Amino acid sequence: MTSWGPEPLVFFFGQGRADGTSAMKDVLGGKGAGLAEMTNLGIPVPPGFTISAALCGTYLETRSFPPRLRPAVEAALGRLEAATGKVFGGGDTPLLVSVRSGAALSMPGMMETILNLGLNDASVVGLQRMSGNASFAYDSYRRFVQMYGGVVFDVPKRLFDAPLERCKREAGVTRDIDLPVAALQQLVTEYKDLIHQKTGKPFPEDPQAQLWGAVEAVFESWNTRRAQDYRKLHEIPDTMGTAVNVVAMVFGNMGEDSGTGVAFTRDPSTGARELYGEYLLNAQGEDVVSGARTPEPIAKLRDRMPEAFHDLERVTRTLERHFRDVQDLEFTIERGKLFMLQTRRGQRSGAAAVRIAVEMVDEELISEEEAIARVPPNDLNQLLHPAIDPNAPLDLLTTGLPASPGAASGAAVFDADRAEARARKGEAVILVRRETSPEDFHGMVLAKAILTARGGMTSHAAVVARGMGKPCVAGAHEMEVHETPAGFSVNGRSIQEGEWITVDGATGRVFAGQARLIPPELSGNFSRLMGWADKRRHLRVRVNADTPADAHRGRDFGAEGIGLCRTEHMFFEGERISAMREMILASDAEGRQRALAKLLPMQRTDFEGIFRAMEGFPVTIRLLDPPLHEFLPKETEEIEALARQMNKSVNEVQHTIEMLSEVNPMLGLRGCRLGIMYPEITAMQARAIFEAACTVAARKGRVQPEVMIPLVAHVVEFRKQALIVRQVAEEVFRERQLTVPYLLGTMIELPRAALTADEIAREAQFFSFGTNDLTQTTWGLSRDDAGVFLPAYLERNIVESDPFITLDVAGVGKLIAMAVTLGREARGDLKVGICGEHGGEPAAIAFCEAQKMNYVSCSPFRVPIARLAAAQAALEERGTMIRTRATV
Ligand code: PEP
Ligand code: MG
Repeated sequence: MTSWGPEPLVFFFGQGRADGTSAMKDVLGGKGAGLAEMTNLGIPVPPGFTISAALCGTYLETRSFPPRLRPAVEAALGRLEAATGKVFGGGDTPLLVSVRSGAALSMPGMMETILNLGLNDASVVGLQRMSGNASFAYDSYRRFVQMYGGVVFDVPKRLFDAPLERCKREAGVTRDIDLPVAALQQLVTEYKDLIHQKTGKPFPEDPQAQLWGAVEAVFESWNTRRAQDYRKLHEIPDTMGTAVNVVAMVFGNMGEDSGTGVAFTRDPSTGARELYGEYLLNAQGEDVVSGARTPEPIAKLRDRMPEAFHDLERVTRTLERHFRDVQDLEFTIERGKLFMLQTRRGQRSGAAAVRIAVEMVDEELISEEEAIARVPPNDLNQLLHPAIDPNAPLDLLTTGLPASPGAASGAAVFDADRAEARARKGEAVILVRRETSPEDFHGMVLAKAILTARGGMTSHAAVVARGMGKPCVAGAHEMEVHETPAGFSVNGRSIQEGEWITVDGATGRVFAGQARLIPPELSGNFSRLMGWADKRRHLRVRVNADTPADAHRGRDFGAEGIGLCRTEHMFFEGERISAMREMILASDAEGRQRALAKLLPMQRTDFEGIFRAMEGFPVTIRLLDPPLHEFLPKETEEIEALARQMNKSVNEVQHTIEMLSEVNPMLGLRGCRLGIMYPEITAMQARAIFEAACTVAARKGRVQPEVMIPLVAHVVEFRKQALIVRQVAEEVFRERQLTVPYLLGTMIELPRAALTADEIAREAQFFSFGTNDLTQTTWGLSRDDAGVFLPAYLERNIVESDPFITLDVAGVGKLIAMAVTLGREARGDLKVGICGEHGGEPAAIAFCEAQKMNYVSCSPFRVPIARLAAAQAALEERGTMIRTRATV
């Protein structure tokens, strides 16, 4: 037996509050909570009630409701009848309702809605009499049967389109709203027949049966593939469930003095402080979002219906002040009177999030701390992303609406499944659709950008793309999209599937080919927000950079030093690779010295450039790390050339290459093991580092080298390498008659190093966690091969996330925490940081803050993300501390 507890299952609007912190939101869902709160604020909302989200999970398991639900719904319906003066199922004054989903966290467009419920052959006559408008009554009836058939009976939605198109053709009209009454009546009959024929069940005439069918369908829609995909992407728990809202209908399709629309209290793309949105006259809600008709910008409503527009402006101001955040609203105007149907936190692009947060501080709506907390760090990605170079030659195809900012290039793909397949193979794809629907969601997730021919700024494509921070151009209506062969034509040009295009979501332009992109400008609001974040964070943020160019970029993004300079990357270019190969294949130390002597000046120049770029900040340089085979030639011609260069036979060179090949190179001759086997390499690198440091210091540059020894498992490995580095440093300082202070430390990237961190810390001055290798070796999971089966692990819920992307706190995190504690016990001033990929991941940064690390280091584009995430982590820690103190 299921126990449903004593809580109410049904809440009439006005009974529950939604102040953002209230637990009521879990029960009422976002939409129900918003409607309840608007009712409390005295804003015009049609009366209605919410069936608790607490029922969803158990309904989906048992396909049954608790016995006390039915009387509770009946009582609420009675209250609704009293409030409206209409009768549910009544023939003369029929009460019609909408049935809508709404979870505690918003999932726009992912679940189902049914409008005009309560209509049947008798009540439609009553509706016609009540409204004095037959066209409206039968248009509502036709919509209801169509929606109900699709949502409750699962009849494919496209099957309803053909009869509609035929009727319009026969009547000689292009818009649904111009269909004559007889055609609408005909459509109702055809739709009912279609449902009967496809399901074997008649369309229910009884409004009670209609209502329960709709309630069940809304709960069922929690588990559709698109809803599940959306939850996975946005990390919404499956257990949350949706509530069901039953709301008295108000009608936007009652004629030219009626309409419906969606609005944001500020522009969700740019953040500009002006009412933003779209509306359609003589229409119902789904017409605006489906993209079937192209709506008008909201500003035009001011001329069309000044009073309703004025009311809308007043309501939006009240709501924004009340919720202290941007609201995303749905409204309907019935014969000139405004009704609000929804208010929720407005999703916004990264650029808008920053601007809104900063401006709300200026408007004294929120504090600087709240502003920091309001911007999801990963959303900064969108601001940091490239735009099209204004000087690049461009081949403009067409222009649509600038629905979500950012620019991207990729192969045009016209189907979500194919887009998914190509993207999984590593190809950059742009999903091009006539209009997107929730069924396209999985393709949109993996596409670089989205382009649609139809729909407005609040169409499905636009809303979803903004939510994901992807560039999107919507409603490029000159484009004609064809199914077979897949492609589009526009202005006499045609683009086939696979051809490259470039989409600029900031301007709405679409170009043929791959356009040159440039990095973004980071000033104004962005730098103010970052300034507030910087004041509050404890963690320093460094950049992983191997070249002066990367170091400069990292510094422009606010990096306070280099946390990882992978020196091997310097050995791949031009003649360096030949010298490197010569060094590896040399038969004795002398031969190696000769080759290293060629590499020394090149390395020194690299380090000078990097020290200069990072003047005044620490620079951590890691000694050579990868397995040697990565440098060796594989093609016969390259082997022959190398043999000539080294005055050796091809066979001899080939033999050495074979000798160096390893079964498990990632666990083989790499990291400090190279320096142990070939101490000359360590000595050459140390010399290059200290000579470069002295050169820069001699010109009054402030350099702070930190030499890092990779892949240490045993303290003796560190000790031996450290000895060489120190000796070389002394030599160089003597030669140059100059001393540069430096640190000597190690990476912690093997479990044994973490386990013996106290021994190592007695000799090393800093630790940097290499979480890429540490994850690989803790899990015994190859970082290069895991891609083959990790997706299956994720699919089967064996792991929650890819441990190479999301730090595995339970496993790898435990080793890190242990190493930090052991290390600090052995050396009080041990400097601790992280330089694996996780160093730029907000959840891992919160973990590093909790470990009281000194810094995180990440790739240049993630530096601002890390700065913001570090501030949020510091504020969160402080909040937790304050909360803990308050409860102790
Ligand atoms: C690591 O292992 O986390 C690391 C930073 O080094 P690399 O990725 O170069 O092995
Ligand atoms: Mg490593």
